[in-house]
Amino acid sequence: MTHTCIHWFSKGLRLHDNPALMAALKDCKQLYPVFILDPYLHNNACVGINRWRFLIGALKDLDGSLRKLNSRLFVVRGKPEDVLPKLFTKWKVTRLTYEYDTEPYSLQRDSKVTSLAKERGVEVIYKVSHTLYNIERIIEENNGKPPLTYTKLQAIAKTIGPPKRPIPAPTMDDMKDVKTPSSENHEKEYGIPTLEELGLDTAPLGEDLFPGGEQEALRRLDEHMKRTKWVCTFEKPQTSPNSLSPSTTVLSPYVTFGCLSVRTFWWRLTEVYRGNKHSDPPVSLHGQLLWREFFYTASLGIPSFNKMEGNSVCTQVDWDTNPDYLAAWREARTGYPFIDAIMTQLRQEGWIHHLARHAVACFLTRGDLWISWEEGQKVFEQLLLDGDWALNAGNWQWLSASTFFHQYFRVYSPVAFGKKTDKNGDYIRKYLPLLKKFPAEYIYEPWKAPRSIQQAAGCIVGKDYPHPIVQHEVISKKNIQRMKLAYAKRSPESPSKSKGVKRKAPSIIEMIKKKAKVK
Ligand code: FAD
Repeated sequence: MTHTCIHWFSKGLRLHDNPALMAALKDCKQLYPVFILDPYLHNNACVGINRWRFLIGALKDLDGSLRKLNSRLFVVRGKPEDVLPKLFTKWKVTRLTYEYDTEPYSLQRDSKVTSLAKERGVEVIYKVSHTLYNIERIIEENNGKPPLTYTKLQAIAKTIGPPKRPIPAPTMDDMKDVKTPSSENHEKEYGIPTLEELGLDTAPLGEDLFPGGEQEALRRLDEHMKRTKWVCTFEKPQTSPNSLSPSTTVLSPYVTFGCLSVRTFWWRLTEVYRGNKHSDPPVSLHGQLLWREFFYTASLGIPSFNKMEGNSVCTQVDWDTNPDYLAAWREARTGYPFIDAIMTQLRQEGWIHHLARHAVACFLTRGDLWISWEEGQKVFEQLLLDGDWALNAGNWQWLSASTFFHQYFRVYSPVAFGKKTDKNGDYIRKYLPLLKKFPAEYIYEPWKAPRSIQQAAGCIVGKDYPHPIVQHEVISKKNIQRMKLAYAKRSPESPSKSKGVKRKAPSIIEMIKKKAKVK
């Protein structure tokens, strides 16, 4: 039998290492590559303007690559469970393929779509390619529970063996019997919208430092992989949060949107490591990819992973509700130049270094402002190019010492931390030009500068730049005590308190088990 297939591009916006797309091409006579702009995922609360630009760039790149194979991308709008059945009928589809996605929303959506397809006699094939491993397997290997420590995850990964090797992108040969019927009206009906057509305000956009798309992802990967010594000696804690150009790969947006396969990333690193002395997990680049796997596994196995309430491994903390503090943090008005410079870079460019994320996340939560990590998570989701449901929630829990990390008494100083790698404050000067004339002695603490120095710098604290929103030395000590109380209230059965306590297998795993096995 020959098939008419829809390959539904959701996260995996690429042709390389795309096993579901390859499955679509088997015995296929007509291929419809589809991307759905889903109002639940693609709305302005979740997607900031930088992220929109990245997505549109990635779609254009994908369409360009498909055209080279005599195919096209069809962009449609609406809820997938409404849109796809209509397309099944319209195009007489017999097979639907997509990449397996473990976000709770996606699991529910895909399960609905799968039932609707099956009711219409459409064969459904989905494949794992967004993570290194099939993370259900990791959970199974750990007796149905997600590993709560990185060491445990690493041990399980070792028993499973290395991740699957990536597969190549389809070639003209794979496409020789396949047609994509597209009409003259294609642009009008299924074209990629511009930012303006989407009604977005493009005024805040700056230079496109990280253009979206698979070609750009592979080019950047190639560039990094040529730096053998850098790759082999990479140790995350030794990289700088405030260098003027990124000290890590910035491949995260490409991995998040699936422009770059994480398995391709892994195996390219393996090739660079071969025959060379190299750093190891958790600090190496392989180690970074395993962190991703760690949080993905946790996010699948722990119900309500992006919330405090109902999240069985998360310490319940009496966070304050303080819209003024939250707005000051979000809008880079805390009066701490290091924190405000980071939040400015985030808003302008959509990417900040991991340790910069540490600094602002600790500041918002347990360090200074005592605001829930869920609020910070929302801001990051909107502003980060790499905004990822599982990684964002997991890392926010870590930084707020709510889950995984419990040394709540170790608090980052919004002054001393940045100085370690940037004594002169060049990073602050770049992102907060208002402060650029302050001497190095005061750039992290302009409120301490004598009035004459503030005048000479052309910036008066309290008038041109805010006073510190809180007194870090005082508030951080208070907050450590509040955290101590929250820890004291944790029940003895709390899995994060007593390691190894058996938990009931989470309901989401049961739900997945009921589904057909992932191929
Ligand atoms: P590199 O150091 O070059 O690492 C290579 C890859 O490994 C990254 O591209 C990423 O895919 C993965 N990786 C690296 N660090 C981590 C980590 N700590 N956890 C999981 N995966 C990791 N990362 C996201 O991709 N999306 C998010 O929404 C996100 N939210 C975060 C929120 C907070 C509060 C914190 C502290 C961290 C968050 N991170 C998130 C993790 C991390 O900061 C970024 O992945 C990393 O900084 C991306 O830069 P890079 O590509 O240069 O990383």
